[in-house]
Amino acid sequence: MNGCVFCKIVAREAPAEILHSTESVMAFRDANPQAPTHLLIVPKEHIDSIDGLSDAHADLLAHMFQAANHLAKTEGLEEGWRLVSNVGPAGGQTVYHLHFHLLGGRRMTWPPG
Ligand code: 5GP
Ligand code: ZN
Repeated sequence: MNGCVFCKIVAREAPAEILHSTESVMAFRDANPQAPTHLLIVPKEHIDSIDGLSDAHADLLAHMFQAANHLAKTEGLEEGWRLVSNVGPAGGQTVYHLHFHLLGGRRMTWPPG
């Protein structure tokens, strides 16, 4: 999608530290990390947020969760990790291309801010 920063990263038109790329999913490090490991897992297809998902995205979602499991292992997060997706302004979403934040490497607190 025109003007979407994550579409630009997927197209390799904007720089990012890409750790994982499959036919449908990409993962790269967050530019402003909130934990020692802070990755973003995105679909290569532009979808605004979880709100834009339908039954047709079932396989894609499975692949995003598989990527999370794989990356938690390669990042050495045996102690645990967190997967978060912010939806809409009140949910704290700032980039409107669906993404899961994979956070780890420190003890997470609850509730999140
Ligand atoms: P949201 O606020 O939508 O849940 O998360 C957006 C995330 O994208 C933020 O954690 C922010 O640091 C990250 N981010 C924004 N722009 C870029 C960018 O150009 N490159 C990378 N790697 N991360 C970005
Ligand atoms: Zn996009």
